[in-house]
Amino acid sequence: MELFHLHGKAALVTGGNGGIGLGMAGGLARAGAKVAIAGRDADKNAAAAKRLGAQAISIAADVTDEKACRAMVEEAATRLGRLDILVNNAGINIRKQPDEYTLEEWQRVLASNLTSAFVASQAAYAHMRRAGGGKIVNIGSMMSLFGASFAAPYGASKGGIVQFTRSLACAWAKDNIQVNAVLPGWIDTALTRRAREEVSGLHERVLARTPAGRWGEPADMAGVAVFLCSAASDFITGTAIPVDGGYSVQG
Ligand code: NDP
Repeated sequence: MELFHLHGKAALVTGGNGGIGLGMAGGLARAGAKVAIAGRDADKNAAAAKRLGAQAISIAADVTDEKACRAMVEEAATRLGRLDILVNNAGINIRKQPDEYTLEEWQRVLASNLTSAFVASQAAYAHMRRAGGGKIVNIGSMMSLFGASFAAPYGASKGGIVQFTRSLACAWAKDNIQVNAVLPGWIDTALTRRAREEVSGLHERVLARTPAGRWGEPADMAGVAVFLCSAASDFITGTAIPVDGGYSVQG
């Protein structure tokens, strides 16, 4: 499938050592890309890279640290020999009522989920422009669309990521760089296992509202990653694609 293959391409997936990031990295690797996995936990990074195969590498980095985030991008480009694809997936959530957050907590969520995508994209831009094009995929959320009482900074960061995506798409189309967002529904990962513990009734509410009748799995994210990082999507930019089993269209 010429349209979807990624042979000869190099990808960096932030937060690729587990959950959605690893699901997407798995798709990219299976389509032929060389993949760099980045996260703070070096052991988890190494284990994830091993699962992806001999072409994958791992990079320990905290994306909230501007210097480390830029160095991560440079290291990926140097070790993989090029950089064609950036998946800005690293993210956290802190669940509280709006009046309970400290400013530090608010800033930590924004730094992890939104500012990191800006810094990494800016660092990747020079490589992609030089190569004559590239693909950036930013990870939003159902909370890019909907509110939740327990997710004020998270929702702000994920709403922001959609608008950020549109701005980059407009700016960098001239460089043949397509920038899109993916809005996952409720996917079974470490992040949402914790949410299920902290938000009572969440599991049942998700099942009831999701037409597909199940939670998503990280592997459900592989196909959209391949599509948005391959030639198949060369005329698609600035979109935000829900991958949610129908959650966002259920009235
Ligand atoms: P996980 O907690 O399983 O994965 C989060 C990943 O981000 C880990 O690899 C973690 O690695 C990395 N990470 C977190 N903070 C940093 C940091 N400061 N620097 C570098 N890496 C970091 O969560 P998910 O897979 O569920 O989430 C992935 C993305 O998908 C997030 O952006 C999340 O908001 C989004 N999302 C998830 C949904 C879901 O239902 N699961 C729904 C909608 C969106 P390490 O700890 O080693 O740094």
